[in-house]
This record gives sequence, structure tokens and C-alpha cells, in this order.
Amino acid sequence: MKTNEKSKTEKGTVKPKSSAADDLRNLFVDSLKDIYWAEKALTKALPKMAKNATNEGLVEAITSHLEETNSQVTRLEDVFALLGEKAVAKKCDAMDGLIKEGESILEETEPGAVRDAGIIAASQKIEHYEIATYGTLCAFARTLGEKEAEKLLATTLAEEKEADVTLTKKAYNTINFDAK
Ligand code: FE
Ligand code: ZN
Ligand code: FE
Ligand code: FE
Repeated sequence: MKTNEKSKTEKGTVKPKSSAADDLRNLFVDSLKDIYWAEKALTKALPKMAKNATNEGLVEAITSHLEETNSQVTRLEDVFALLGEKAVAKKCDAMDGLIKEGESILEETEPGAVRDAGIIAASQKIEHYEIATYGTLCAFARTLGEKEAEKLLATTLAEEKEADVTLTKKAYNTINFDAK
């Protein structure tokens, strides 16, 4: 390798921390800690979203997903137990940002249909992040041969997909038109 080529490669290469994952199982557990933090953060964020929504169907959708989210937290604790790992939450910067963005949308919209449309937009970003995360976690579990863990994670993945579909229906059926 030419000298200038080498320095170019090193420039963008990140040095791993001492705690860095060195195999798929460690990466899997780290990712579980991340989504565990995210789900717990959502149990605090969703009530605020519900409180600021006007459309009854939307309030209902958020409230029922809050109940699901509580059970998703417990389900993750079951996954940790299955793996023989301690349930530890590690801050998820992405979810932290998505929740903050959702809160700023509340400030930036008048209550009623417009704020509802904003709440749906913010919530769908959150659901999509969760869908991506649980999709990856299922794939990791499958690769690692953790069948029971995969089953639990797939249950949550299905709930997140369903929540996203419900939000889409709410948006298309009335709220966006009322907001218009
Ligand atoms: Fe969730
Ligand atoms: Zn994250
Ligand atoms: Fe992005
Ligand atoms: Fe969700």
C-alpha cells in the first residue's frame, strides 16, 4: 500500500473502545441494551403524546400502544434472561432524538387536527426505527440459534408493524384531511 493511501484509510477509521463488541453475540446484547433503553423512554414519552392528541381514535391508538410498550419492556427482560444476561439499559441516541423531535413538533403545532398530524408523523418515525431495530435483532437471534429469543423479538416486531399500520390508517382516513 502506498503511504498516502494508508493515511487516507486511517483518517476515517474509528478506534474501538475497550468494551467494543468482538462477535455477533456481543453486538446482539449491546443492541438489546439500546432498544431496552428506547422502549423504557417510550413508556414515558407516549403518555405526553396521548395527552396532546385530540382525535379520539388517535388517543386510543397511542394509549393501546403504550400498554404494548410496557409489555415489550418485560419481553426484553425475558430475552435478557434467556441469554443469561443482566437487563441493562444503554442510552439510545437515536430514540432520544426522535422523542425530542416529537416534543418539538408539539410546540410547533396548534392543538387539533394539525397537531394530530404532527404526532402521527413523529410516531411513525419512532415505529419505523423500532421496526428496523427488531428486524435486525430477529436476524441476529436467528443467526445465533437463539430460537426462543427470536420468537419473543418477532412478537414485538409484529406489534410495531401493526402500530405503524394503525397510524397510517388514522392519518389517511381523517386527520390529514381535517388538518388540510
Ligand atoms: Fe416498542
Ligand atoms: Zn438506538
Ligand atoms: Fe437518518
Ligand atoms: Fe412502538
